[in-house]
Amino acid sequence: MTKRTILITGGASGIGFGIASNMATQGHHVVIADINENAAQRAADEIIQNKGAASAISVDVCNPNQVAALPEKLNGVNVDVLVNNAGIQHVSRLEDFPAEKWQQLINIMLVGPALLTQAFLPHMRAQNFGRIINVGSIHSVVASPFKSAYVAAKHGLLGFAKTVALETYDCDVTINTLCPAYVKTPLVEQQIAAQAKENNLSEEDVVNKIMLEPMPKKQFISVEELADTTAFLMSNSARNITGQTMILDGGWTAR
Ligand code: NAD
Repeated sequence: MTKRTILITGGASGIGFGIASNMATQGHHVVIADINENAAQRAADEIIQNKGAASAISVDVCNPNQVAALPEKLNGVNVDVLVNNAGIQHVSRLEDFPAEKWQQLINIMLVGPALLTQAFLPHMRAQNFGRIINVGSIHSVVASPFKSAYVAAKHGLLGFAKTVALETYDCDVTINTLCPAYVKTPLVEQQIAAQAKENNLSEEDVVNKIMLEPMPKKQFISVEELADTTAFLMSNSARNITGQTMILDGGWTAR
């Protein structure tokens, strides 16, 4: 496969870091873009130590000025593949959901991907190659209680991807959304602990009775599965797959 430059938002941790490490192993150059500058640098250093090509850049994906300045800040490094991955979670029933939190989740996980796409699409169009891969969620296609902002942002991402897919009909640019069920990352570890406390359950019960309960295959999705799907979407064979929702859910939505 042609070696690409891949910018991954939220690449300092969890799924983003997993995809970055995996892509670097395959010879691609990865740019770790994260609000946590030190963590981004540590992530890039770890990849470099493992003989990969990586750099780090700090960005708050919901800050329009910071995002617009990114292509120039990259000093001539052109982004071929954008992975819109940065995300956070907040669990609360709607009546108690702080308004600023609701807005922040939408800004990070819906407005952010739009701003990033706006920043990097012109170059992708000009070179007639680009791949935009959103990290959505099983919550792009189903809901769970107490996650109204997250579910709304992740559902919105699908409509955004379909629209950009139509707007990029005239070049080899595609945009798709990965929708995994639970992946064991720091974001989910925090939820396991919080839900155990809230529901007076053991952490094992939270995993088996809440998280994996709706999933026939009863296993966490691995970062490798997401990285391999990303690699496929980057390939020439996937050039006509655009505006699509790639669901990795162990059969959750087959019920
Ligand atoms: P994580 O907490 O391990 O990593 C998220 C990263 O995003 C962190 O490095 C954080 O610093 C960064 N980030 C947060 N706000 C940012 C901002 N404003 N600008 C730039 N970077 C920011 O989480 P994760 O589990 O790896 O989640 C990554 C993505 O995968 C998220 O979009 C999440 O919704 C999605 N997802 C996760 C799971 C799961 O089970 N872990 C399942 C489905 C979807």
